[in-house]
Amino acid sequence: MLVLGMMLCGCSQTQNDTSSKTEVSVQSEVSGESKEESKLPEPESRDVFAMDTYMVLKAYGSNAKKALEEAETEIQRLENLFSVKVPTSDISKINANSGNPVTVNASTRTAIAKALEVGDMTDGALDITVYPIVREWGFTTGDSETEPYYKIPDQWLLDWHLGNVGYDKIIINESIVTVPTQFEIDLGAVAKGYATDAVNEILEANHINSALINLGGNVYALGRKPDKSKWKVGIQNPADTNKMICTLAIENKAVITSGNYERVFELDGKKYWHIIDPKTGYPADNGIISATVIGDSGLDCDALSTALFVMGTEKAIEFCKAHKDIDAVLVTKDMKIYITDCLESIITMEDGLKYEVIKR
Ligand code: AMP
Ligand code: MG
Repeated sequence: MLVLGMMLCGCSQTQNDTSSKTEVSVQSEVSGESKEESKLPEPESRDVFAMDTYMVLKAYGSNAKKALEEAETEIQRLENLFSVKVPTSDISKINANSGNPVTVNASTRTAIAKALEVGDMTDGALDITVYPIVREWGFTTGDSETEPYYKIPDQWLLDWHLGNVGYDKIIINESIVTVPTQFEIDLGAVAKGYATDAVNEILEANHINSALINLGGNVYALGRKPDKSKWKVGIQNPADTNKMICTLAIENKAVITSGNYERVFELDGKKYWHIIDPKTGYPADNGIISATVIGDSGLDCDALSTALFVMGTEKAIEFCKAHKDIDAVLVTKDMKIYITDCLESIITMEDGLKYEVIKR
């Protein structure tokens, strides 16, 4: 009965974790070695810069070096398919041929199909056709580093672009994708999640059963650490990104965060960030400043974390209540922290921080 109850509530991590607190991966970076950690065998490690972010791949096992090499090749392959900055990518081809059918790679098809599915699930909070608006604000991936041009777009321009927003008008037929004339898309909200799953598959195919992959805030913890304790994954404090709000003891799960601190600029004391509300064309400002989703699939978690951020506090809490198969940590503007019930047994809060439980 107890086991059944756990399954029904969708809890995937139900036991209190008694493992030692040795490894903490703040989502943007893997921590330095602690005293206890130094007792662990040396992992194979690889730093990758791709998808406009620093990625750290760490794996244990005899095949680890080969597996990580393959993983890096796969990440580059995906970047070349997904990036709006690579003129030959599938996404660039779709954008250059709006109104016409474009044949895409199976990976591109899967990522777009998931984005459309989550668009449907979230009442359009996730909408990959907001890309022209993202670009108008200057948030196009990477451009900000070389040629900063963040700006608040004129309202008439936003209104015009909003007329070309609507994920539900995208048609996928087998490997052929058609977006309406004038429409453009970008997979920024799901690309790293897709890559997370792809890397995980490669590691598993290479019989790796202990790894921590961190694709710039998109973490997947494969198996347990070599000492059999669970991985500790930290969630950054959106109000002070040098700190964490909590750590989660995780095994075989993706932990993916969308935060208002990742790509952001400030003008006249007001902050503007890269996650756009498709209803307004402005940075989503509906109460949530950080949304973390924990689940089996990196792609699902990535799509949903962006969507929950856009939905805002009330709708995101309702969504979590209705979807027992995902877990989430939501941080609001006034620094209230909400966690889904299944996380209670695996979460350790930073000193003084409290949470409210979303019961299902
Ligand atoms: P993430 O960091 O996964 O939350 O994704 C944010 C990225 O997704 C942005 O940098 C944009 O490229 C894109 N994006 C912004 N707003 C949306 C939205 N409402 N729906 C889909 N993609 C978005
Ligand atoms: Mg996302």
